[in-house]
Amino acid sequence: MKTYGSGETAVRALDEVTVGIPAGKFTAIMGPSGSGKSTLMHCLAGLDRLTSGQVWVDGVELGSLADKQLTMLRRDRIGFVFQSFNLLSTLNALENITLPLDLAGNKPDRAWLDAVIEATGLADRLRHRPAELSGGQQQRVAVARALASRPRIVFADEPTGNLDSRAGAEVLGFLRRAVREFGRTIAMVTHDPVAASYADQVLFLADGRIVDRMIAPTPQTVLDRMKSLDGVEAGN
Ligand code: ADP
Repeated sequence: MKTYGSGETAVRALDEVTVGIPAGKFTAIMGPSGSGKSTLMHCLAGLDRLTSGQVWVDGVELGSLADKQLTMLRRDRIGFVFQSFNLLSTLNALENITLPLDLAGNKPDRAWLDAVIEATGLADRLRHRPAELSGGQQQRVAVARALASRPRIVFADEPTGNLDSRAGAEVLGFLRRAVREFGRTIAMVTHDPVAASYADQVLFLADGRIVDRMIAPTPQTVLDRMKSLDGVEAGN
């Protein structure tokens, strides 16, 4: 459970949520605005702490960790992709991809890194700086950066929110490839049914609870489910 504030103004953003993000799968998290998607992602990723309950990542209960240990666990085992690509403008694409490894003092696994870079389709653009890349290319660099350390799980927060549909499709295709071909685990918050349809399963949140799970989603089945949730929200 996650509550913001206290007393009469307290907001219960997550309410009795029990959920497992399956390893080696691509999971999308959807729900109306304010349903708790960001809160769930932040708590699962160790960016925020639950009010009560537990989060386990790779056999470790996050609530048992001190802040410093939590930071190290995030660094070593969790990858992040945000809506804004968050690349450093003074570094080229390759330097951005390896930056987290460099900061942690870790040597990249060359074969892994080469495979990830090959999958971005940007091998000939590695010396370009972010300003010389399109939005879709920048986000693929950001995904490669998240994958570079072979994290146990990658959390993606609206990764296609700033992209047109074609660039979005390239990024989503890359995320799906990371799961299907590279065996990664991805959890993605999105409000876009097309983006969600790239996932193996979709979790639907409403009012801080998981209200449904859909396997093998299509844009249409996701859209229909979202409409019914929005209808409930609006009291229809
Ligand atoms: P979503 O990502 O689905 O839009 P959020 O997780 O951002 O939903 O929010 C869930 C609920 O928690 C909402 O009612 C929101 O207003 C509230 N909330 C989120 N963050 C905070 C915060 N830092 N302080 C107070 N309330 C918050």
